[in-house]
Amino acid sequence: MRDQRGRIYLDYHATTPVDPRVADVVARHMLVSFGNAGSADHVFGDEAAAAVDAATASVGALVGGRAVDVLFTSGATESINMVLKGLAARAGGRRLRIAASPTEHSAVLHSCEALVRAGIAEVTWLRVDGHGHVDMNEIEQVFGRGCDVVCVMAANNEIGTIAPFARVAALAQQHGVAYLCDASQAGGRVLLESLGALDAFVVLSAHKMYGPRGVGALVSSRLKALGPLIHGGEQQRGLRGGTLNVPGIAGFGEAARLRREEMGTDESRVAQLRDDLQGRLLAGIPHIAVNGDPLSRLAGNLHVSVTGIPNGAVVARVRDRLAIATGAACASGIEAPSHVLRAIGLEGPHLDGALRIGLGRWTTSGDVEEASALLIVAVRAIAQLLTR
Ligand code: PLP
Repeated sequence: MRDQRGRIYLDYHATTPVDPRVADVVARHMLVSFGNAGSADHVFGDEAAAAVDAATASVGALVGGRAVDVLFTSGATESINMVLKGLAARAGGRRLRIAASPTEHSAVLHSCEALVRAGIAEVTWLRVDGHGHVDMNEIEQVFGRGCDVVCVMAANNEIGTIAPFARVAALAQQHGVAYLCDASQAGGRVLLESLGALDAFVVLSAHKMYGPRGVGALVSSRLKALGPLIHGGEQQRGLRGGTLNVPGIAGFGEAARLRREEMGTDESRVAQLRDDLQGRLLAGIPHIAVNGDPLSRLAGNLHVSVTGIPNGAVVARVRDRLAIATGAACASGIEAPSHVLRAIGLEGPHLDGALRIGLGRWTTSGDVEEASALLIVAVRAIAQLLTR
């Protein structure tokens, strides 16, 4: 995928380009079917409500959830806040006992920290191994000691590691523990249908699956265990006030529908391109290591550490022609090393040389060829400067 000036986009974890078929649906619900989904008195409202119903079915189906289990939000961040703050508010006057992986997105980490600061939650940070995997035995022990909610993301937004989320969900269900599964990166990329029957709180974000930014969902059979974060009208069964973002929701629904149909073929093609890019970088750059679990990784994820080559220098050299990242978009501009990479035990030069590359549906073999050449040239030039 290139923009009009030919710049290559390889940062699909930060956000994905909107599928033109999705954009058509969004535009239609802005320009033609523009009614308020809450207007029961005329056909404009009926059309909008029907679009929301269709989107509800598509988004629910992506994670094996029923239509009544879907709540639309402004994105994954809001969905995560709603679960953790909602459960803390209903913990019966005692502290909510949270167990969380240290590699969670900052939406989970900072929500946990805010609840701890407010004195209404306590957190057990789970151990992770060098690939970012939690230890199922430890989780079982933590559940045995008493736990209200466990947070283990389905796939990591930096190193791409895919967690055994169905096992975590089954164990949580068995112990009566709530499971907050941040599936923002996994949604539309990994089969998640098994989660539906397992009572998890599944978090999705449209803009990670070729849908619009600013719309997401929380899917769970346990929505009633939560209360509204946003008070207002009776929209969405009183769980989230405010006029529904029908264009965004309809677009999200279309994106989810398309992912269900196309994910299988897309993701295997993307994995081949990723492997090609990985091979080229390993062959052309000395002292490079691949991070994440090579056997359980998002198809479009390539996370590497180039030892001794500061990542900021690489990104600066290629940025006019290639979009890649030093880390998560919500942390870019922040100098501190990534909490994910520290949690998996990376240190010093491995941390400083970390690059996140994200491929997706519109990545071509030409993009891979040119991106690898640009990166190899950039790294060699920086290495030369550093050895002078
Ligand atoms: N969780 C993960 C794993 C993410 O990658 C992101 C996006 O960066 C979020 C949560 C936040 O998503 P949103 O932008 O929809 O709030």
